[in-house]
Amino acid sequence: MIDSDVEDAINTQIRNEYYSSYLYLSMSAYCESKNFSGFASWLRKQSEEELGHALKFFDYLIDRGGRVVLDSIEQPSSEFGAFLEMFEEVLEHEREVTGMINNIYDLAASKNDQATLVMLHWFIEEQVEEEKSAEEVVEQLKLAEDNPAALLILDRELSARTSE
Ligand code: MG
Repeated sequence: MIDSDVEDAINTQIRNEYYSSYLYLSMSAYCESKNFSGFASWLRKQSEEELGHALKFFDYLIDRGGRVVLDSIEQPSSEFGAFLEMFEEVLEHEREVTGMINNIYDLAASKNDQATLVMLHWFIEEQVEEEKSAEEVVEQLKLAEDNPAALLILDRELSARTSE
């Protein structure tokens, strides 16, 4: 049986992963409204990935005999300003998620919950990738500045992202 504090932390993280998915889907809709379908596609794939993260925690909790309790998901913003600001928000959000995962790791360590520590290794590696891919887009947007031609080329490049 899983420790109840670890169970609560995982339930909260399920909600957080759904919020991430919701936030990126909202960003995707914003890009669609600006007719940048490549940025929109990238964010939609990111949104789908977050659903996978939520379900990974969901399945893990059930495997451990825990009880999944779904919390309400906060409404995300619908306006995101310039693309650079928006992707800086993605990066900032992923850094926050990394902190959340690290906190669950510390909690599980304090409870000698080795199974949860092993499960979290996947997420710790995943967060390295999440931060890296958001950082890459931020750096490319900094180079593009407000040049419409450069933004269109980047939009086309991002449309090629495949789901992992
Ligand atoms: Mg995630």
